Amino acid sequence: MLEQLKKEVLDAALALKTNKLVTLTGGNVTGRDPETGYCVITPSGIAYELLSPEDMVVVDIDGNVIEGEMKPSVDMMGLLYILRNRSDLHCVIHTHSPYATSFAILNQGIPCALTTLANEVGSDVPCAPYTRPGSETIGIQVVEHIGDSNACLLAHHGVIAVGTNVHHGLVAAVMCEDAAKVLYLAKTMGTVERLPQEEIDYNRELFLNTYGQ
Ligand SMILES: [Zn+2]
Repeated sequence: MLEQLKKEVLDAALALKTNKLVTLTGGNVTGRDPETGYCVITPSGIAYELLSPEDMVVVDIDGNVIEGEMKPSVDMMGLLYILRNRSDLHCVIHTHSPYATSFAILNQGIPCALTTLANEVGSDVPCAPYTRPGSETIGIQVVEHIGDSNACLLAHHGVIAVGTNVHHGLVAAVMCEDAAKVLYLAKTMGTVERLPQEEIDYNRELFLNTYGQ
């Protein structure tokens, strides 16, 4: 079942590696099928390049396994909490991408100081307080802090990126890391200033309504 979504989820997981957002077996990707409400999630603790689409685990929104032999990601309950509480989202991606996580270690969000972050993440990236990995509380904290952003940092841990589909979730994860890297470089030379809200809104609208084919 959900063969197309399984392929999209695995392709996104492989893209996390290509874009250097995870190492070894880190991170995970979850996509929700809008019709059935079932979620496809990457299995726990196996390198993505060793997996095929049929290894993806199908679960319902409460985490009951519907199809699949493998154990789903250990973060599943937190990821499903986000999707259960945000009907507008259909993808959650978790990474430990190094530049964004360096902000998270300092308990700092990423200010929206770049047009590209405004375009694709839509806002500042907030930092949610530390909670233990593998529990639903990660999801609770993300829902409380993410606001209208498509990414949220997890203090002392990593990044949650979200999207209306798997493609948009992946773009948010990649752009969050890219912006964190550029901001890190800028911070070595001076003080970073956030874009005015009016310009953030303009750049977001431009991306949503004009950019692309
Ligand atoms: Zn993690």
